[in-house]
Amino acid sequence: MNTPRLIDGKAAAARVLIEVRKDVERLRAQDIQPALAVILVGSDPASQVYVRNKILRAEEVGIRSLEHRLGTDTSTEQLLDLIARLNADGSIHGILLQLPLPAQVDELRALQAIVPGKDVDGFHSENVGGLSQGRTVLAPCTPSGCLYLLEQTCGDLRGKHAVVIGRSNIVGKPMAALLLKADCSVTVLHSRSPDPQALCRQADIVIAAVGRPRLIDASWLKPGAVVIDVGINRIDDAGRSRLVGDVDFDSALPQVAAITPVPGGVGPMTIAFLMKNTVTAALMQQHSLSEAVCHSIS
Ligand code: NAP
Repeated sequence: MNTPRLIDGKAAAARVLIEVRKDVERLRAQDIQPALAVILVGSDPASQVYVRNKILRAEEVGIRSLEHRLGTDTSTEQLLDLIARLNADGSIHGILLQLPLPAQVDELRALQAIVPGKDVDGFHSENVGGLSQGRTVLAPCTPSGCLYLLEQTCGDLRGKHAVVIGRSNIVGKPMAALLLKADCSVTVLHSRSPDPQALCRQADIVIAAVGRPRLIDASWLKPGAVVIDVGINRIDDAGRSRLVGDVDFDSALPQVAAITPVPGGVGPMTIAFLMKNTVTAALMQQHSLSEAVCHSIS
């Protein structure tokens, strides 16, 4: 077997962001300044770091970002009020609601309140439904980033057998929908799947989105498989805290054709696709606006 390839998520994300910047410049040339509103409710430390990184990345590519911080005791109605204002604001193209929300806030109602055209996380049921119908919609950022890495690594995905481990609404399910759209044969595994190793060993492509540190070792993998590790797990390693994926990287490496590291694999792609979705949302809003103008003229 050839030497296994490390899939460099940082380099891939940089390529995506170059294209995003070009789109931002094209929009600016038409007097449209793409803008992303980020809502943070409460004071979860990890969420604060994620929001800061998203805002920094937006600024780097020329997307205007507006941070809305709400207190830990915010009610669902107060959050819905803010979302309604952002929905109605024509200068805002994307709205991101940082999860998790405090327990008293109705997460589903809040996500459903964001108009689908500004739903840059792709969590609104209209976007979820559109994706499962194979339509072009704003799709969730992490699985979109994984698909990009797979296309760059494998080329044509048609007919490949992909196994997705995990069935969450934010990663596993949309990942499966994107792979189906790319004409893969898709198997989705979860905590109730009997003998997941045996099923996983049949896969040409493995996407691990489980949240269990180093669960998947070489015994789960067919020789020559391509592995995308979505997992981000903080572990204590001989008294030092560090991040590991859902895949046991050292065990898997000799077995695979290509694999993403953690960190430096899928993580950077998630933010890159958030920027891409924001620009796509701005382009879609510009398009529907010009269509509306054409209708009113004709
Ligand atoms: P989640 O909502 O907790 O879902 C985990 C899934 O794994 C569930 O569907 C669960 O099955 C399944 N599962 C649990 N144990 C299993 C086992 N032993 N065998 C097979 N399946 C098993 O997690 P998530 O939000 O999808 O996130 C997954 C991981 O990705 C986490 O480490 C998270 O931090 C990471 N993540 C990374 C990014 C990024 O940007 N890189 C973004 C999002 C998430 P059931 O449905 O039966 O419970």
